[in-house]
Amino acid sequence: MDRMHELCKKLNQWAYEYYVLDDPSVSDREYDRYYDELRELERESGVVLPESPTRRVGGEPVKGFERHAHIARLYSLDKAVTEDELDAFFTRVNKAGDATYTVEYKYDGLTVCLTYEGGDFVRATTRGNGVEGEDVTAQALTVPSFPLKISYPGTLEVRGEAVIRLSVLEAYNAAHPEEPLKNARNAAAGAIRNLDPKITRTRKPEILFYDVNYMSEQPVSSQTEATEFLRREGFKVFPYFRVCRTPEEVKEAIDEIEVGRRTLDVLTDGAVVKVNEEEIRAEMGATDKFPRWAIAYKFEAEEAESTVLRVVWQVGRTGKLTPLAEIEPVELAGATVKRATLNNYGDLTRKDVKIRSRVLVCRSNEVIPKILGVVKHAEGSVPVEKPAVCPFCGSAVRETGANLFCSNEACPPRIIQKLTHYCSKNAADVEGMSEATIALLFEKRGVKRFSDLYALKSSDLEGLEGFKSKKISNLLASLENSKNLPLDRFLYAIGIEGIGRVAARDLAAFGSVEAVAALTREELVAVDNVGEVTANSVTAYFADEENRAEIERLFACGVRPYVRKKPAGGAFAGQSVVLTGTLASMSRPEAQKRIEALGGECQSAVSGKTTLVVAGEKAGSKLEKAKKLNVPVIGEEEFLKMLQES
Ligand SMILES: [Zn+2]
Repeated sequence: MDRMHELCKKLNQWAYEYYVLDDPSVSDREYDRYYDELRELERESGVVLPESPTRRVGGEPVKGFERHAHIARLYSLDKAVTEDELDAFFTRVNKAGDATYTVEYKYDGLTVCLTYEGGDFVRATTRGNGVEGEDVTAQALTVPSFPLKISYPGTLEVRGEAVIRLSVLEAYNAAHPEEPLKNARNAAAGAIRNLDPKITRTRKPEILFYDVNYMSEQPVSSQTEATEFLRREGFKVFPYFRVCRTPEEVKEAIDEIEVGRRTLDVLTDGAVVKVNEEEIRAEMGATDKFPRWAIAYKFEAEEAESTVLRVVWQVGRTGKLTPLAEIEPVELAGATVKRATLNNYGDLTRKDVKIRSRVLVCRSNEVIPKILGVVKHAEGSVPVEKPAVCPFCGSAVRETGANLFCSNEACPPRIIQKLTHYCSKNAADVEGMSEATIALLFEKRGVKRFSDLYALKSSDLEGLEGFKSKKISNLLASLENSKNLPLDRFLYAIGIEGIGRVAARDLAAFGSVEAVAALTREELVAVDNVGEVTANSVTAYFADEENRAEIERLFACGVRPYVRKKPAGGAFAGQSVVLTGTLASMSRPEAQKRIEALGGECQSAVSGKTTLVVAGEKAGSKLEKAKKLNVPVIGEEEFLKMLQES
C-alpha cells in the first residue's frame, strides 16, 4: 500500500510537470515504468487509490448523464458589448466601495465544476442551468491537467473551462478527415458531454481553471487569492491575469486581450472583468441571473489588419473630437472597410497609432469599425498631430482627461450630430432621417433644434436634392410616429452628457421628464447607473433655460414620452427595497432574488426613491439614512413573513 501511495505521488507530480507546467523532468519511458508497476500492484491487490492516475484511462461508456446539484450556484455572467455598458458597470461598482478589478480571458468552451472532499477529487459536473448540471466525472477524469489529490482539507468546488486547443483540433481533423470537428467550442462540449469516456480521451480536451465556487473552510477573500489558491493546489491556470485599479486600466487590459488573443492557441470570445474584493462583491450582490460584480466584455468575431493612411478629426454632439483613421480598404464581415475610429485623443496616443502603422480593426456594435491596436509600426511611421483648434470652426480646443473638445456650442458638425443622435434607432427612431439628410436640412433649411424637425412641412422639403414626393411623405410620417416614444428613449435622445441607454432606463423609472428634472444631485447619485459626474451633468442640463424651453417646445409639437408598463403583482410590487446588514436565514443575493421575484426592485443605496429597508444584524449607515429619510424599516422576521404570505 505504501508503495502504491509513493508511485501515485511520483506519477502525479510528473503529470503536473508535464501537463500544467509544461516542463517535464522525466522521460516517457521512466513514467511508463512506474505506471506499469502501479497497474500491476492494483491488479494484485484489487485496490485503486482515489488519486491513482490509472483512473484517467476512461471507464466504460455511460447510459446517460445523471443530474447533480452544485453546492453554490454557478452564475453565468452579464455581458457588455459597448463602452457605455462597461461604464455603467464601473459606476455601479464605484457606489459599492473602493474596488480593484481583475481582468482575464474569457474562454469559449464548456464550463465545468470540480468537487473535492477531504483532499480527494470526487466529481465533475457541467454548469447546466447553474443550479444543477450533468455528472461528467468519468469524462473529466481523462483530462490530465488537474489534480486528483489536493492539500485543501474541506469541501471545495472549483470552476474551469474545458477547451480543446486550436492546434489539437487541427491535428485531430487532419487525422479524421472523414469526420472533422466543426469548431473548438463544439469540440470541447462534444468531448466532455460524450457518453463514452474513451472518445473524450481521444479528443484531448484540457481544463483551464479560473475560479473557486465554494469553500467550506477558510474561503478566499478575493479573486487574486482564488487564483493563487488554484495555482498552489496544482490546477492549470492561464498565465494572463491582471489586477487593475481604475476603469482606464481595465480598458487597457481589455485591449491587450483583444490583440493578444489572436495569437492564442485557445478559442476566446472576450474578457472577464471582476471586482477583486469579496467584501465589495457581497455588498453588490446578484440579480436573479448574474452576479452584479462581474461582467463579460464580448469581442466581435470579425477582425482584420490594415494600414493607417491618414487621420482626420470628427466633432461629435458633445463637441468631442474623435480621431477617424482612413485605412487601406479591407474586407471585414462581408463589407469593405475604409475608415476606423479610435475613442479619443488619449486612446490614439495610448495605442500608439501612427500614420503608416499596421493596425487591427474590428466591426463593433457602433456603426464605424474600431481600431483595436497596433500590430506593428512601419519604417517612417509618422505620429498624428494633436489639433490646436477645431478643424471645422477654428474655435479653441479644450482638453479634459483623454478627450479634446471644440469649445463652440454652435459648431456645425456638433449640431448635425446632436440631431442625428436624436433621430437614431435607440432614441426617437425617426426612420429615414440619415446624417446626410440632417446635414442637408441644417444647411438649406436652417434646422438646428430637435423641435425644428417637427416644424418641417412638405413645402420645406420640396426642392431639396433627392427629395421626391414619396420620400417627403415617408419622412413626415416617421417624424409623426416618433412623437410617441418611451420615456427612456426620450431621455436618451435629448443627449444629456453621460446618459447612455442604461442610465436612461434607470431615470425613466421616475415616471416623467418633470420628475427627472426635479431630482437633486443626491437623489441622482443614488440611482443605480448614475455616478457623480453624470449626476452633475443631469442637474446642469435641466438648470439650463434653453434646454427646458426646448423640451417645452417638443411637448408643444406633440412629443409624448410614455412610461413602459411593468408587470404587476407580488408582495413587493412597486417597492424599491434596500437590503442592509446580515440576514440569518439567507444570503443577500438570495434575498434580493426573492424580492425581485415578488415584483420589487432592489437598490444598492438608500435614497428618496427607496420605499422599504430590510435590516438584518449589524446594519450600519444605510439604516441610519433610512431613519433620517423616514423610510419604513423592517427586520428579518417581518421580511420572512412577507415572503411566506405570498
Ligand atoms: Zn468646432
